[in-house]
Amino acid sequence: MFFSWFRRRRRRRLLAEPFPREWEELLKRRVRHYGCLPAEQRRRVEQMTQVLVGEKEWAGVGRFEVTEDMRVTIAGQAAVMASGFAEPYFFDRLHTLVIHPGTVEFSSEQASRNPNLPAGLFDGIAWHYGPVVLSWRRVRRELTGRAPGRNVVLHEFAHHLDGLCGQMDGAPPLGDRQRERRWYAVTEAEFLRLAGSARRGEATLLDHYGARSRAEFFAVATECFFELPHDLSERHSELYAALADFYRQDPRAWLPRQPPVLADASGGQWVSIGRRDRRRDDVARLRALRAMPTGDALFALGLEHLRWGRAEEAARVFTRLIDADPHDEESLAHRAAARLRLGRLAEARADCEAALAIDPDDVAALCVRAELELEEGRPEEGLASANRAVEISPGDVDARLSRARLWLAIGRPRKAIADLNDAVGREPFRAEVYFERGRAKRALGRFRDAEQDIARAKLLEPDRDWE
Ligand SMILES: [Zn+2]
Repeated sequence: MFFSWFRRRRRRRLLAEPFPREWEELLKRRVRHYGCLPAEQRRRVEQMTQVLVGEKEWAGVGRFEVTEDMRVTIAGQAAVMASGFAEPYFFDRLHTLVIHPGTVEFSSEQASRNPNLPAGLFDGIAWHYGPVVLSWRRVRRELTGRAPGRNVVLHEFAHHLDGLCGQMDGAPPLGDRQRERRWYAVTEAEFLRLAGSARRGEATLLDHYGARSRAEFFAVATECFFELPHDLSERHSELYAALADFYRQDPRAWLPRQPPVLADASGGQWVSIGRRDRRRDDVARLRALRAMPTGDALFALGLEHLRWGRAEEAARVFTRLIDADPHDEESLAHRAAARLRLGRLAEARADCEAALAIDPDDVAALCVRAELELEEGRPEEGLASANRAVEISPGDVDARLSRARLWLAIGRPRKAIADLNDAVGREPFRAEVYFERGRAKRALGRFRDAEQDIARAKLLEPDRDWE
């Protein structure tokens, strides 16, 4: 009782203060939606941001310091999401936000001691009636626009809303029976459809992660609703309508259309083996690239060059990006990879260390460092970097490839094969993976098997100079 009176008083005071100029600038820069909102809704976002920043406890993990920039960025995104509700919801049931600098990680030992902790690596977690935990690296990466349709802040805050009426089960509080029935009919059908597509490995607008449970489906659909409203309403009109009914807003009305999503932006589905297919694939990609904002298009183009072994072109593209923003650690890390392939080791080292100085957990840079150590005859040190890369991102095929090369160099072919088997499962058409696995099998004396893998690599990429 006392608490709620105290909170009301403090909140009134918070709301009476003018919205700081610097925060307005921050929101304009950091929250894509903010600048597009109608004036009245924008005002509501500002008020909610003030309350979320001022009232919640913001905790950094370890010595990590949560800055005003982080608070305003995160609060602003959550505020957009709740800014349509007729009666403002200031996330009153949420008291604490925990911000991690990198990936959130709980060991299986920690998880076994505390039943509330899930074991593994996460970009964010929302506990029922508990804190929201976010990886700042993930938030920042999504701000660059390189993960269209994804938004970890919206995702975790959606889980929080979902839990408000009891279970986190994909059914947020809707108010009346009729809306609940309609919600259930629409979302259940869409959930099953996504689960089927995910099982068959089909490309979908909604992230396959949403097929894990009804709760994840709601969170993933929420991300798409706010980030790609035009695409969602075109491809899933009933789902869009159900979400618009719950959030009491129509982001299509104010958010401009985003560029199309690249088919395998999430490491997903490319199935072109033949060269003719590959060319057709390239044309489609180029079209998609042209429609993207220049920076993102250049970045995607650089990745394309790298993927097809055009290291010289890749290095040139990343140089343009670094000239525009010397602190772009993703471009630094990828230029390092290109230079490594060109044999320009000292330059690769400089780029790689510059990237790691900005983000010590950058997986691409850790992989390059691992391979540089290998090139320079220090495989044990290389292994430490590769281990870290796999630990941060166990599903990253490049990290597995780098580590496999190191295992091979120190005479542990079985370990290499384990990493490469994992990689083949994720990207079954990646020539390098077969080539390295062939080398590992050779080291074990399994020559027939080995030649099969190497032949497969050559079939996949006949133009490349293998061995
Ligand atoms: Zn989730």
